[in-house]
Amino acid sequence: MTEVERLSYDVVVIGAGGAGLRAVIEARERGFSVAVVCKSLFGKAHTVMAEGGCAASMGNANSNDNWQVHFRDTMRGGKFLNNWRMAELHAREAPDRVWELETYGALFDRTADGRISQRNFGGHTYPRLAHVGDRTGLELIRTMQQKIVSLQQEDFKETGDYEARIKVFAECTITELLTEDGRISGAFGYWRESGRFILFEAPAVVLATGGIGKSFKVTSNSWEYTGDGHALALRAGAKLINMEFVQFHPTGMVWPPSVKGILVTEGVRGDGGVLKNTEDKRFMFEYVPEVFKGQYADSEEEADRWYTDADNNRRTPDLLPRDEVARAINSEVKAGRGSPHGGVFLDIASRLPAEEIRKRLPSMYHQFKELADVDITKEPMEVGPTCHYVMGGIEVDPDTASSSVPGLFAAGECSGGMHGSNRLGGNSLSDLLVFGRRAGLGAASYVADLKDRPKVSQSDVDAAAAMALAPFDPPGDGVEENPYSLHTELQQSMNDLVGIIRKAEEIERALEKLGELRERIKRVTVEGHRQFNPGWHLAVDLRNMLMVSECVARAALMRTESRGGHTRDDHPGMDSQWRNKLLVCSATPGDNPVVPEIGIEVKAQVPLRQDLLELFELSELGKYYTDEELASHPGSPA
Ligand code: FAD
Repeated sequence: MTEVERLSYDVVVIGAGGAGLRAVIEARERGFSVAVVCKSLFGKAHTVMAEGGCAASMGNANSNDNWQVHFRDTMRGGKFLNNWRMAELHAREAPDRVWELETYGALFDRTADGRISQRNFGGHTYPRLAHVGDRTGLELIRTMQQKIVSLQQEDFKETGDYEARIKVFAECTITELLTEDGRISGAFGYWRESGRFILFEAPAVVLATGGIGKSFKVTSNSWEYTGDGHALALRAGAKLINMEFVQFHPTGMVWPPSVKGILVTEGVRGDGGVLKNTEDKRFMFEYVPEVFKGQYADSEEEADRWYTDADNNRRTPDLLPRDEVARAINSEVKAGRGSPHGGVFLDIASRLPAEEIRKRLPSMYHQFKELADVDITKEPMEVGPTCHYVMGGIEVDPDTASSSVPGLFAAGECSGGMHGSNRLGGNSLSDLLVFGRRAGLGAASYVADLKDRPKVSQSDVDAAAAMALAPFDPPGDGVEENPYSLHTELQQSMNDLVGIIRKAEEIERALEKLGELRERIKRVTVEGHRQFNPGWHLAVDLRNMLMVSECVARAALMRTESRGGHTRDDHPGMDSQWRNKLLVCSATPGDNPVVPEIGIEVKAQVPLRQDLLELFELSELGKYYTDEELASHPGSPA
């Protein structure tokens, strides 16, 4: 029998980014004991890297803003494939979640009259992003950690134990979820430093594990983002939706090679930066797509006036949704008008005084100075698309964040639906707060209503331990595979064949490659012992990346249209017959226990509620919907 540390909690939250921390706070406030587990140090998650801000229609910078405008923008950004109920809850609740952060101690930048300042971002009609310079995520995490400490102090007063109701398990990776009769019974993992196993017995688990970016070669994501939550959910019996939609942020660094992919915040364009090609032309005016015609400025003069007078001018096309800008950059580079290192230019130097740039964008200033020896107050940046965010994720109930597996909840980037086919910048930080809270609440209510707690079976624990240890004990047929080589091959294939522009023949080649890798992974071998062993950690993560990549590729092949973060060269248009269809991935055991088979099916979207449908003009909906779907719109001819 394997030696395992055993602990018992009401709720286990996997992930200590914004979604995880907000879930912890909510479940604890309802009186439950919560373990929060994270792969890296506590406080280091993607959320901390978020630069631009958190979208909430507080109306501080423009009083015309309200939840309905935010809802409309989010649906347009997602090309009407969003789970509309999630988009509605998000738009309605985001302002409260931001104000609530202030009660936890957050200090956002202010307007001249002392209100929370809001900045422009792509796809948002009004300045809407609450921010702290370009370090907003850091402030979010700092204040939520502070709130957790204050809750622990309350617990100490009551019980004499700071960790009576919230305990942090940092540098600890969860490798498997355990179930009894289909209900969650616990989570199994290991301490990264010692390699020792740990078991959390708990009836409710909230997945808040973030994204999948490390399956792609050029990415803004850091090492932790290997799609663990997505894969854990699949293996536990939950479903993933929208996995074909991967966001390539238009502006990642392209030079030097060691930093390729690191994010350049959209805040640069929000604050006046413009994209130019080698002919010094502001090329985005050439790329306003049909669905957005009329909503964006068609001259540089109008675009520039918009920064100071948004009520009487249309916004600059530099701030079109990310999918549009990324494709435009791709086309400029392909047409030979790219910068020396294969990107385009992003110019803020000629647009704002140096002092202002350093004040508004301190992290960008230091990032370019230190990593690329470029002074962004004097010269343009070179930028190009980088894999940034996954719109696809665990299918959840919008109100409770519960998955189809009883006791399993998900929030933040690892959940799916909210952003449809493309996420607007700033809508992730607000998503984590809104749905992190709802997931904590959902888990707490589930536990409160439980009549009996599912039990963890020893055979499941032994199987989870054996699976984790498999790379130390390969089949012994003389063929050994190296996890680093497999990871590099996976990233290269996903980047080249299922990247920003896709076509059937290339996706099929990717699937062939993934099939080959799913065989080779059985022979992945690592040297040494369990004590801090990065090769072993990667070997464990690799099977998650493979599963998730297969979901992305299969769904990308099946969706024969282009929409948001999914561009098919061989099916360039948006097809209204596809708009209300979701591709749903599930895992079936098959004969490969390391990486289960992926099944995929088409599911119809729930039609948009009538009052929400009526928030849009019929002429706009006509660009996305079929005539039959619009028959009930009041503007529709009888
Ligand atoms: P994360 O913050 O990604 O946290 C995931 C957590 O899960 C981590 O603690 C990790 O250690 C843990 N974890 C993962 N797997 C396991 C496992 N197996 N076991 C245990 N723990 C695990 N969005 C905006 O709205 N505005 C912005 O300005 C913005 N800027 C961004 C800038 C950058 C550079 C990046 C990369 C993203 C940015 N985003 C922004 C997107 C946004 O930051 C992320 O989508 C969001 O923070 C995800 O939050 P999360 O809580 O879902 O997960």
